[in-house]
Order: sequence, then structure tokens, then C-alpha cells
Amino acid sequence: MASQTENERIRQLRELLHHHNYRYYILDDPEISDAEYDRLMQELLALEAANPQFVTEDSPTQRIGHAPVSGFRTVAHQRSLLSLGNAFSLEDLKVFTARVARWAEESVDFICELKIDGLAVSLTYKQGIFVQGATRGDGQEGEDITQNLKTVGTIPLRLQEPVDINVRGEVYMARADFIALNNQREAQGEPIFANPRNAAAGSLRQLDSKVTAQRNLDIFVYGMGSIGNHQIHTHLEALGTLKTLGFRTNPHATFCATIQEINEFIEMWTKERPNLPYDIDGVVVKANNLAIQDKLGNTAKSPRWAIAYKFPAEQAITRVLDIGVQVGRTGAITPLAYLEPTLVAGSTVSRATLHNEDIVKAKDVRIGDYVIIQKAGDVIPEIVQSLPQRRSGEEVIFTMPKECPDCGGKTFRESGEAVTRCVNGQCPAQRFEGLVHFASRNAMDIDGLGPALIRQLITANLLSSAADLYRLTLEQLMKLERFGQKSAENLLQALENSKERPLANLIFALGIRLVGIEVARELANRFGSMENLIKASFEDLIAIDAVGDKIAQSVIEFFLAEQNRQLVTHLACVGVKMEQTNQPNPTQRELSHQTWVVTGKLEGYSRNEISDWLRSLGAQVTGSISKNTDYLVAGEKAGSKLTKAKQLGVRVLTETEFYNFLRERGVSIDQ
Ligand code: NAD
Repeated sequence: MASQTENERIRQLRELLHHHNYRYYILDDPEISDAEYDRLMQELLALEAANPQFVTEDSPTQRIGHAPVSGFRTVAHQRSLLSLGNAFSLEDLKVFTARVARWAEESVDFICELKIDGLAVSLTYKQGIFVQGATRGDGQEGEDITQNLKTVGTIPLRLQEPVDINVRGEVYMARADFIALNNQREAQGEPIFANPRNAAAGSLRQLDSKVTAQRNLDIFVYGMGSIGNHQIHTHLEALGTLKTLGFRTNPHATFCATIQEINEFIEMWTKERPNLPYDIDGVVVKANNLAIQDKLGNTAKSPRWAIAYKFPAEQAITRVLDIGVQVGRTGAITPLAYLEPTLVAGSTVSRATLHNEDIVKAKDVRIGDYVIIQKAGDVIPEIVQSLPQRRSGEEVIFTMPKECPDCGGKTFRESGEAVTRCVNGQCPAQRFEGLVHFASRNAMDIDGLGPALIRQLITANLLSSAADLYRLTLEQLMKLERFGQKSAENLLQALENSKERPLANLIFALGIRLVGIEVARELANRFGSMENLIKASFEDLIAIDAVGDKIAQSVIEFFLAEQNRQLVTHLACVGVKMEQTNQPNPTQRELSHQTWVVTGKLEGYSRNEISDWLRSLGAQVTGSISKNTDYLVAGEKAGSKLTKAKQLGVRVLTETEFYNFLRERGVSIDQ
């Protein structure tokens, strides 16, 4: 019986970690701190160790990162790019060093390196020339980001010697560049990055390498695959050779013969960490002798000869000056603690979310309390606990407001739910957040329309619903502060373009509670038009796999509300497309700027059929390869076009990769 409960928890943890992996590795937008993620992972590892019968192949404990899904070509790594085992204490490190010595059957020296908080890349050089760069992906296959990596100034395009070599390193963004980038994004109303790691990952995984070039990225190279005729016996020598070849290596790698020396290195960098210009999240300890590294080998996930010591999340004590609330687009009212500004992990924290009423109660956080705050993952601040022993008796217990602080409307907390909501559909705070959501990337993706501009338009009385956006005129926009003719024209063009967004994006843009982009896609595929979706019954809705009772109820309630139906009618009147066209998907937009060539003998479909497919998705299909070609689909015996594509660095997809490329974008093609 106990093991059934444990199996259920294992299942839950697997789901949770899959979800957070996706947010972190694919969206570059984590919802939880790294410390919280590590805690969930440790819980799953412990439960799986006690119940090995419940370990599944797809468990996050068995896998590295996330399979690549973005618009880049997938490349297989010559040698797997592994993750690292984790240590959280000196005890863990003692166990590790003793185990390595036991397996090596001799005493082992170690190298301690800073664990740079960025993302791993693999760089391949032929005859000293940089030919390919890839993300780690799932360890076996990553994304081909060669063009983007070429924009990173510290990645050499040509080495000091004409060697064939594959190296691994960490691409990162220095803290000052991260802060400048976020300031700029905030001013332009774009969402800010949670931390330098996500900013680096988001910048490297841009489809347009011009964007990457504008972000100041940097690299430290920390390891190599095989290399020509250099005689290298230790990791320290390898680092020296990398430097001689022209790679940027981190200057703080240190030889440590004993666990005491390892501990001293860790203690020093725990203190010195804020003084570095970049973020580190731990220390990597590696066996120095390469023969020992070879002897120990790897598990499926990580080398046996190295481990990552993770710094504990940084904590500080501060005081809660007040607890306020924020109103989100679905009316959710979130308590927010205003803190006496305090320095944690190198930056000043003055606010922390308290999530919901239950959490405020569970943590017993009162206005005036001293609290321990923690900045883990290194930016999302959270309150760990209050310190009741430091209370003076003046502290005030927070109560959730009965009225919305923004519109004065009634608030309501449904039984069984943790969230309190403002139920006034006309609430200005909700309307503002709703408009920000409407314009956001997975929704109508309106270029240049961010929170600051939305606020400006509302203040100028030009905007009360999303439909008003499409009624804006050049004259009105040019009267806005800091708005010239060019920016006004650009915005109008962006609005015009957004009218053609796929139905799924429009459904998502409406901001129906519980309907994320994935569910919106299912709804668009199933119903094909907004009209059919509005008419759908509860039964029609729950017949869809991804839709449960709650989502179905939420969709029904949304369209029952008069103002929501009116909004849809107004959007249709101003020309926003309400039907699903052939294939609803961002692919359609992505492909509309692309030039494709199809060559060779294909198994599943003829070349003409594939070309027609591509054209129906908006791509231009031509007969010859040039530097303007974006992709070549190469069947068997592809011949000269394939050779030319490789010479020009055109991305090449095999037939299977091409079908996967479409599938990953939700376009189904029967084979
Ligand atoms: P990891 O970060 O624990 O360690 C492996 C990585 O360390 C390597 O791939 C490499 O990129 C990096 N590294 C940096 N400096 C290095 C050096 N000197 N030598 C060797 N490697 C170096 O493991 P991971 O698999 O990359 O990521 C898992 C971690 O990512 C988790 O422990 C968590 O902290 C974080 N994560 C967070 C979330 C979230 O939602 N917050 C989700 C997924 C993962």
C-alpha cells in the first residue's frame, strides 16, 4: 500500500520535473528556482532508489536536458555531452572522492573549476576552422547553432594550429550585460529574463543570428574530445592546450590533492562569488588524470570522474514592510511582500511573491515580521520562513482584500481553489494584463506592443478592448510621446500582420482561464473555427484528450459572458481571422520568409508533393542552391546540391528529419 502511494508521488514528481525541464530548457523561462528544482529531483532520486521497480525509461532521473525542438537543424554529437552528478555538502564530496579512489585503485588528484551558470555547447573544428557548434540538447543530439555561435566574439573561428578537435564549453552572459539587457527590454515593454543563464540560452537559441550578435555573450571552454598529435595526460594539461590553441579558459581552475584543498576552494569561492563579473552556481570537481577518467567512464547521464558541488541558495534576513496584492489577467489576486531592500546573491531584493492566501498562512508571514529570504536560481526571490522569535507584538496579520484593490469589485475564492479572484470582468488591472497577454509572443505576437505602450494607449483613452487595437490610426499614434511616423507605421503593420495569426493563437490570446497554447491548439484543430468553438457543448469539449472538466467548464463560462462574445464579434469585424486554415501553426509564419530546395530520391512522398506541402506552408521552393537557401531536404543520392549546400553552410534535413521538423511544429503529415 505504502509503495502505491510512493508510486503515485514518483509519477507526480516525474510530471512536475518534465514540466520544469520544458520551461527551463526549451522556453528558457523557468517557473521555479534551481534550488527548488534540485530538491524535487533529489526527492525523486531517493524514491526511485527505494522503489527501483517504478523507474521508467523516460524518468527525468534517467535523462539529460530536453530533446531539441526549436527551428534549428538537429545534429548528433560525436561523443555524448553529459550532465554532472550533484553534491550538496562536504559529506557528498567525501563520498565522491573516496569512490573515485576506490574505482581507480590508486590515489587520485583533482582539479576544481568554477561551475559557470550558462549553457553547454559543443564546438567542432576541422583543420583549425570552426565548422559546427551545437547545444547539448538531450546529450545525444543538440541543435545546430553554428551561425549564432559565430557571433560570440570569444569563440575563435580559426585556431592557432590546424587541428581537428571537438571542445565543450559554457556560453554565458556577464551580470552587467544581463542587467543592461533586462533594463532595455523593460523599457521596450518586453518580458525580462529571469537570470543571466536564461538570457544566455534565450539569446543563443534565436532563429535570427543578428539578434544573438547584439547580446554580449561569452564563453569558457572546459573540456575537449580527441585531438591530433598532442600528448596530453591530465585535465590541467588539456586546459593549457586549449588556451594555447586560442580558446578562452577560466583562469581559476586549481589543482587539489586532498578533500581539505577541495573544501578550501569551495569556501573561498562561496565568499568571492559576488565579486565575479559572471554567475557561478557551484564548483566542478574533476579527476585530473585522463587515464583514470577513461578507466572510470560514464553512467548514462554523467561521468563517474566528476561531480558538481552546488552552492546552497543564498539567504538573508530582512523585514516585511507591507503586504500588498497584484491583480493578474484572469483576476487572480496575488499577495506580494514589500521588503526592506536587502542585498542577496549580488543584487538588491525589495519584493517577493507570496503566491496565495494559504501560503501566507502556512508560512505565517505578518506585516512587520523579520523573515529569511532566499534568492535561488539566482533571481527569483522567495520568503523561506518568518522569524516569530523576533516579533515585537506590533506585527499585523494579512487578510485577503474583500474588494479588488484596483476596481473595488468583489473578490471571490472558489472552494477547493487556492486563488482569490476579482470577478469584475471590467476590472482595469485585469484588462491591462489581458491586453499584454493578447499581444504576447504565443498569442497574437504583435511586434513592438509591450506593457509600456499598452499603458500609454490606455492613458490616452485609445484602448479599452483588444479590438480597439485594430482601430488605431497613424494620426492617433503619432500624437503619443516618443512616437515618430516610422514607429507608428511599424506598429500598424505589426497589427495588420497579427490579423492572420492561426486560430490557436487567437484562442490563446483571448485569455480563457486554464487554456494554454497547447490546449488552444487542440481546440483549434478540433473545432476549426471560432464560431464552432463558441457553439461547442461541454460534451464536445471533454471529448478532446487534453480537455478535462475544469477546462471545458472554463471555456463554456468564457463564451457565456456577453462581453467576451462581443469582443470576438468586434475582432471579426476588424478583420481578425477566425478560421483555421489548412495547418494552424507558427510554422506557417516561420516558413513564409524561407527558401527551400528539395532534392534526391524520397521514400514517403514525391519531390513535387513535398514542394507543394512547403508552398502551402508559405515557403518559397526553388530548384537550385544559393546563399539565400534556408533549408535543403536531401533524399538519397542527393548529389551536387547536397555538396553545394554543405559548402554554403545551408541547413540540410534528411527526409525523416524533415517530417520531424513538421511534426515538431504540429503539422501532421502521414507517411
Ligand atoms: P548541472 O547544471 O547540474 O551540471 C552540468 C552542466 O554544468 C554541464 O552541462 C555544463 O553545462 C555546466 N558546467 C559549467 N561549468 C562547468 C565546468 N567547469 N566543467 C564542466 N561543466 C560545467 O546539470 P544540467 O543537466 O546542465 O542541469 C540541471 C540543473 O539545471 C538542475 O540541477 C537545476 O539547477 C537546473 N534546472 C533548473 C530548472 C528550473 O525549473 N529552475 C529546470 C531544469 C534544470
